[in-house]
This record gives sequence, C-alpha cells and structure tokens, in this order.
Amino acid sequence: MSRDDRDPLDVADPRRTELADALAFLEQRIAAACLAANRLRAEVTLIAVTKTFPASDVATLVSLGVTDVGENRAGEAEDKRLECRSAGVIDLRWHFLGQLQTNKAGVVAQCCDVVHSVDRLKLVTALDRAAERAGRRLGCLVQVDLGLSSAGRGGATPTQVEVIADALAQAEHLDLDGVMAVAPLGDEPAEAFARLAEVAAHIQAGHPGATVISAGMSGDLEHAVACGATHLRVGRALLGSRPPLG
Ligand SMILES: *Cc1c(COP(=O)(O)O)cnc(C)c1O
Repeated sequence: MSRDDRDPLDVADPRRTELADALAFLEQRIAAACLAANRLRAEVTLIAVTKTFPASDVATLVSLGVTDVGENRAGEAEDKRLECRSAGVIDLRWHFLGQLQTNKAGVVAQCCDVVHSVDRLKLVTALDRAAERAGRRLGCLVQVDLGLSSAGRGGATPTQVEVIADALAQAEHLDLDGVMAVAPLGDEPAEAFARLAEVAAHIQAGHPGATVISAGMSGDLEHAVACGATHLRVGRALLGSRPPLG
C-alpha cells in the first residue's frame, strides 16, 4: 500500500476528480443493471474494494458518498482503518474479502465489520472466539465455490456450505448474513451467479435472516445484479488498475 500526503477533500486534486468520475460512471452502470433487472438501486450495496490503494482514497470515496469498503489482507485492513480513524473518517463499514488464516481472525474481528470469506468450520470457531474477545458481533458470509469441475477461486463446495451456514447461525458472537462468491475463471458468469442464487435461496429457507448475496466485480456486475446480488465488490472500475497480484 502506497502512502501519500494528498488532501482527500481538496476539490482541485486530480485523484479526487478521477475517483468522482469513475464513481459517477459506475453508478450509471449499476442503475442500468438494476433497471434491466427490474430492481431498485436501493437493493444493491456498492462495496469499494480499496486493496492496494491508500487510506486517502478511502477518505475521498467516503466524502463522495461511498459507505462500504473491502480489503483482502488483514494487516492492510488494520493499518488503513487506523489511518482513516485518525483522519476522522469513521462512518463506513469494512468488509473482509480475502483468504483468511485462523491466526488472523483476531485482527479481522477488530478491524472489519463483515467477513465474506468464511469457507471452513475451523474459521467459524476462530472468528467466534475472536469476536467474543473483541467484544462485538461480526457479520459473516459463507464463500461458495462455484467452479463446476476444477477447484474454483476459493470457497466451500455446495455440500459444505450448509454445514458452515448452520455453524455460523449457532455461533454466539457471529451473524449468518448470507453467501458470497467469485465467478470462476473461464465460466459463464451468468450461469455461475444463477447457481449462487439457488444456494442462497436454499440457505435462506433455513435461515431467513441470511439475505446477503455478495457477487459481482468490475467485469461482471451486470450479471450479478440480474441474479439478485445485494452487494457488489468493485475495485478496478472505481480505483483503477492494481499492480499484478494486488
Ligand atoms: C479484488 C477483489 C474484488 C474486486 O475485483 P475488481 O475486478 O477489481 O473489481 C472483488 N472481490 C474479491 C474477493 C476480490 O479479492
């Protein structure tokens, strides 16, 4: 993560103009996708995926109306949230989207509000303990592997999903909010997201509060909205390209 001394609220700052333009264009895409799917814009939450970008970008996005940000590394999320807090930027929700090791559960429980990547039972136990130690409740989504043949891009297989969802629902300090997925590479996103919608409906039948469907990124958000996504995780289309592996 690069640091800079940019004033995130300076209206003459070129980065602010860049982010404002990208956000306006992205909002048009989301509005058009909602219209095409006969859904209300208010049914869809935009999560700005700020991984690899500095805290000043988070501050600028918040000043432009963004309410939710996503990070995929525990240490980076922790640093950025502290930087934002000391700059007085506190009115936003932090989402954790990345592969999560159990030994990082404590950090994530401190600095994030929702974890999208719960993909195994051991992580449920670790997050529940961590949330208890942090003295808070933590929202959780079961990450679903939508890959048909080879392993997809992380997540639990459809049979494991239900077991993990039940464990989250029973955990004392965790809330089962719903499901999350990344469309598998080389697969039709529309078909993958349709499978996710089926999994989500199945989980919701047993857990009516599990209403979140986190799906859709810069390249496939229209398909996700068409399949009922409630949360979009958008990085590049908003913040620009990341260094490789970012
Ligand atoms: C990086 C990331 C995103 C954002 O992807 P873009 O293609 O930059 O929009 C969404 N979800 C997860 C899990 C990510 O790691």
